[in-house]
Amino acid sequence: MQTLYKPTEASLEESLLSALAINEPWALIERFTTLVRESGSEDERVSAEYMAGRLKALGVPFKVYEPDLFLSVPVKSSLKVGGKTIRAKSPAFSISTGPQGITGKLVGIPSLYSPRSVDLFDVTPASDADVTGKIVIIDGYGGPPPVRLLEQKGALAQIYINPGVDIHWGICTTIWGAPDLDNYQRQPRSAVISISRPDGEALLKQLEAGEVEVTLFTEMNEGWMKCPVIEATIEGTEEPDRFVLVHGHYDSWDVGIGDNAVGDGTLLELARVFNDHKGQLARTLKVAWWPGHSTGRYAGSTWYADNFGLDLARNCIAQVDIDSPGCRWATEYYDVSWMTEAEDFCKQAIKDVTGLESHGERPHQAGDYSFNNIGISGFFMLLSTMPKDMLAEKDYYPVGGCGANIAWHTENDQLEIADKDNLMRDLRVYVATLQRTLNNPIHPFDFRRLAAEFHETLTKYSQAAGDEVDFSPAFDALSALDDALNRLYSHSNELMAKTVSDPAVRAYNDAILELGRSLILINFTREGRFRTEPAVKIPPLPDIAPAMQLQAASGHERHIIQTHLVRGINRVTWEFEGATKSVERALAKIE
Ligand SMILES: [Zn+2]
Repeated sequence: MQTLYKPTEASLEESLLSALAINEPWALIERFTTLVRESGSEDERVSAEYMAGRLKALGVPFKVYEPDLFLSVPVKSSLKVGGKTIRAKSPAFSISTGPQGITGKLVGIPSLYSPRSVDLFDVTPASDADVTGKIVIIDGYGGPPPVRLLEQKGALAQIYINPGVDIHWGICTTIWGAPDLDNYQRQPRSAVISISRPDGEALLKQLEAGEVEVTLFTEMNEGWMKCPVIEATIEGTEEPDRFVLVHGHYDSWDVGIGDNAVGDGTLLELARVFNDHKGQLARTLKVAWWPGHSTGRYAGSTWYADNFGLDLARNCIAQVDIDSPGCRWATEYYDVSWMTEAEDFCKQAIKDVTGLESHGERPHQAGDYSFNNIGISGFFMLLSTMPKDMLAEKDYYPVGGCGANIAWHTENDQLEIADKDNLMRDLRVYVATLQRTLNNPIHPFDFRRLAAEFHETLTKYSQAAGDEVDFSPAFDALSALDDALNRLYSHSNELMAKTVSDPAVRAYNDAILELGRSLILINFTREGRFRTEPAVKIPPLPDIAPAMQLQAASGHERHIIQTHLVRGINRVTWEFEGATKSVERALAKIE
């Protein structure tokens, strides 16, 4: 199996690795320390011009697109209690209150999730308290699920107590990228602010003593704004239509060095070294820098997924997201995002070029993973991170980037958060994984691993649902897929010895792409191909995940869940069957 993941062009990989240098990325990082890269702003444009200028100077071919993105940029927010004004920030897509603010009585409810948990997606109401017409105060970051839930419960406005002394920026809409007719209704209608823990605790104490009336002020700049998207293309020589998309956001909260100037410098360095070896790349590398990540819920990458959707569906081998690499104290690789079919490959590459073991997880419905509704294999999002014992020693709470530095999404995310050695080490990981995907004859994804995971998922769901739902069509189709996959992968070693342009290799790779188009779609999405998912937690095989709730339901609700599961099993089974046919078509050309 090892040969699937090792570089077939070892000397090219060595040459790329030894070409890596800190100058280019570090110059970008230093330049970005003076640019507050809010999307739609002049500083964002200046940073785009800087990158375009460097690409030009380096001779890397690139294009700049100017899409209109739908954004919500926080302007200013505050909270008035009696005569006192408390510092606050609003997440993107809070509403604006107007100068009169929103005044109401506070109601404190126990945290929906632990204040020290970064999991914004697991929302369990911890209280039946009536929040109608009241201003809710609660622990957390003010992510989409709690904001939506409290809005539905009739809250007048929402105050989130962040875990520490600093207030973190964020975004509270569930709409992924620009809204369409199916989802614009989900745009939040609540005024939302976040405050610091000391301020929050003082308010809670006041509330314990009696009624508290507060006035909340929010001002947002919301609308469609032109923002540059930069796409560099380094053409492959043998199979130029097929490409790997490596990408990351360049808009940030404030100057955002750890999130994500380090990623932008990394992308620039990758563009430089791969372009310097362009005659030796079998396939095409596309490098993209997105705006609208922070204030448009991944608006830039979603615009790209929309507008280049067909090319991505036909030809994209993998998408690689680069967010917050090379940060201070980030010396380990655990909880790294990768899809199951890419796990062995990523682990091998990390081990080969850093000597380190790694550990991964199913990618969250987050980051610029805007390509799941096309069905594209993805690996990485965040990469290296701080050792767990160091986190405990520093008493750091979980955050969503910056290598676990709590400067994440605050004004403290400055130059000190970037680390040259860690950045150079992470660059090696990107070079190795990209090089092998571009040049190894066969694509490094093992869908047998995903099929095995599907067996576990189906077993869990079918056991939870009990006898009244028939999962056998899905199990049968999955067994047939197993057989086909075993036949396909029995050819991988022999095909690794052939060239990229060999027809049998192409047939094998076509099957790998088609497997992703079917199986990733059903494992990460419900809304269908070329659409977008809401920014909430998506369980494995989401169409049939409600099996977990069936036994607790009764009457009308139970019938609804049963119906949902029958449809879900049809959808899943159909995709298993389609995937099997894709493999059989390839085998007819290979065997
Ligand atoms: Zn980021």
